[in-house]
Amino acid sequence: MKTAQVENDKIVIKEVEDINLNGRKGAIVRVLGCGLCGSDIVKFREKIVNNGAVLGHEIVAIIDEINSETNFKKGQRIVSSHHIPCGECIYCKHGNVSMCEHFKSTNIRPGGFSKLVYLSEEHLKNVAHLVPNNMTNEEISFYEPLGCCIRAIKRCNLIEGDKVLVVGLGSIGLLMGEGIKAMGYKAYGCDLIEDRIALAGKMGIESYNSRNLEEFDKIIQEQSGGIDAVFMTSGADKALDVALKVVRKGGKILVFSSTPKNTGYPNNEIYYKELTVMGSYSPSPKDLKESFDLLTSYKVNVKNLTTVYPLEKIQQAFEDTVSNKIFKAYIKIS
Ligand SMILES: [Zn+2]
Ligand SMILES: [Zn+2]
Repeated sequence: MKTAQVENDKIVIKEVEDINLNGRKGAIVRVLGCGLCGSDIVKFREKIVNNGAVLGHEIVAIIDEINSETNFKKGQRIVSSHHIPCGECIYCKHGNVSMCEHFKSTNIRPGGFSKLVYLSEEHLKNVAHLVPNNMTNEEISFYEPLGCCIRAIKRCNLIEGDKVLVVGLGSIGLLMGEGIKAMGYKAYGCDLIEDRIALAGKMGIESYNSRNLEEFDKIIQEQSGGIDAVFMTSGADKALDVALKVVRKGGKILVFSSTPKNTGYPNNEIYYKELTVMGSYSPSPKDLKESFDLLTSYKVNVKNLTTVYPLEKIQQAFEDTVSNKIFKAYIKIS
């Protein structure tokens, strides 16, 4: 079977032996396609994974072989995520499911950018769903990324009428904006790239250029003393200044990406403005189910976000994503 593997500074296509269940519980699925996540790019660029690693976790697939107590059947089209929390450890008990050791150790094998993937029984029971016939593969491939956004929004405990600013309008920022709207809050956005600002505006996310936030800031300050929560989907250090400028007293800053210089938020701002700065990383099965429901009911719009690449062009997909040429790459595998 074909797989895309990390090899030094490239992603290369390698033929490896087909996988099968071999008596195990779970399913072997034929991957139709897999979204390229920002975290895949970080893992590749920062050399967090070794040579031979198969990245990708946002899969849409057809069940090829199955041995399971669930109702899934051979031939069905499903969507699945990759990690499952244990539900019992100190992290799980406190709601930090993505810090759970079991969560981190569970994965789809070898990885989403592969013709065939093994899903364990645990995956089938907790994070896999049957895709409705009317949905395209590209649309439902937002299942896991939207799940990440939903968890972030829920962690902020927003109340009705709250205003949220999404800093960074790449695919995840736009998806976050869509999630914020779908969950009943007011979404604003900012970015440096005009095309992104325009697309966000079309999607109903009132958006501004980050270089020129004075007017927006003035209006918001007059209305409600600032933004209730700022979501940092941009990995730029400068975005921290934007967040501190617009967040209201007692507001929240939700950290949703890494920054190159690992700069922090100043102690005194957090203290005197009584800010809450918190992170959100990866979704729980419950967030994923909400994501699935929002996507399949079309309450979240993911149209015009994806660019499709065949598996052979995966290197190009990585490059185009890094250079902001596209919003979101979907790798078509079969
Ligand atoms: Zn992802
Ligand atoms: Zn746990």
